[in-house]
Amino acid sequence: MAKFNMETADKYGGSGAGSSFFSLKNDKDTAVVRFMYETLDDIEGYAVHEEIVDGKKRYVNCLRNYNDPIDKCPLCAAKHRVLAKLFLHVFDVDAQEIKVWDRGKTFYSKMSSLCARYNPLVSTPFEIERNGKKGDTSTTYETYAMDTDDVTLADLPEKPDLLGTLILDKTTEELQTFLDTGTFDEVSPRTDNNQYRRRSAAPNARGDRF
Ligand SMILES: [Zn+2]
Repeated sequence: MAKFNMETADKYGGSGAGSSFFSLKNDKDTAVVRFMYETLDDIEGYAVHEEIVDGKKRYVNCLRNYNDPIDKCPLCAAKHRVLAKLFLHVFDVDAQEIKVWDRGKTFYSKMSSLCARYNPLVSTPFEIERNGKKGDTSTTYETYAMDTDDVTLADLPEKPDLLGTLILDKTTEELQTFLDTGTFDEVSPRTDNNQYRRRSAAPNARGDRF
């Protein structure tokens, strides 16, 4: 089954061109979206680390559950801060495409309030309004319900996976290497250039990575 964006997703920066993050840049900017959920149960939080990868801020999946020992995740063990995030899938009605709205976990109570009133949530479009100037860290967002209709999730494109795309999903070993070297890049043993081709044994243990 083909995954939306799978081929190119790793090329996306956290907020660079082609990324699908939802944003309202200026005070009083608005957009109409549908939250792509039926109930609160559909909304998942993610524990992530924010790391600089290839010069860009990227989210990296934390490998530790809250009750796991600290060394389950090399980034936690290195005392990198864990962020509890909501990455909400929203369908931007004007742009007619899925975007991801990056919110702190406190936004969960907002979503809880909306889900309690609109069920299924996806059937009510909301106008989102930004209140706060560019760069203002106390910016808030108001949600104004529009007319409920009969749109369901089945009417919208499939939600893309976040893990492995917008959120880098790495192994313990890869995270350790990242800490040691500052990069996820490896010297590729599969280059077309003979000069760099490894001639000796050691097959690539992860030949399928992209
Ligand atoms: Zn971690």
